Amino acid sequence: MNGYQFFVDPSRCIGCKSCMQACAECDSHRGVSMIHVDFLDRANSIATAPTVCMHCETPTCAMVCPADAIKRGEDGIVRSALEPRCIACSNCVLACPFGVPTVHVELELMMKCDMCYDRTSIGLRPMCATVCPSQALTFGPADLIERQRAARPVRDFQFGHEHVRTKVWMMAPTDVRDITVDVADYMWKEQ
Ligand code: SF4
Ligand code: SF4
Repeated sequence: MNGYQFFVDPSRCIGCKSCMQACAECDSHRGVSMIHVDFLDRANSIATAPTVCMHCETPTCAMVCPADAIKRGEDGIVRSALEPRCIACSNCVLACPFGVPTVHVELELMMKCDMCYDRTSIGLRPMCATVCPSQALTFGPADLIERQRAARPVRDFQFGHEHVRTKVWMMAPTDVRDITVDVADYMWKEQ
């Protein structure tokens, strides 16, 4: 599937969690979903958004792993932790700016989305993208997405002074060139 890219459009998510169900059914996931679907502001809105690994060009999760258990392939896909190496220390959980990795204590293993590497490496689409009814999660040719969608694909993020470029694209309003995340905006404020 040369030229195919992964696109996330939170504004299309209807919160059905089909993606989570499909992800959990993948043989290599042991019944665990690697995707989270969260309410954005439960008190005031029913809006939801899916979170997948964004496959950072310089993955912080791998940089902080003391066991060198997280590898990024030449194809740009950041794999889940290598089971013989992972010591379940949770450094990656704390370091990931997108909140993706999860440590499974019972398995002593970090597990995260690897863009369904067992499928995409043989020309199949990731499980979540095959079932998402609103195409909030899409795996397809970039030129088609740009033609069909009003939103603009972006893969540059700014977390404070830290710039992060990702393999996965996030759909954003057309005037946005990079997405700035100010953590303080998301902290609880007294009303
Ligand atoms: S399948 Fe698509 S619409 Fe449903 S929760 Fe997942 S991302 Fe949202
Ligand atoms: S989104 Fe998080 S888990 Fe995925 S590659 Fe980037 S730092 Fe690692």
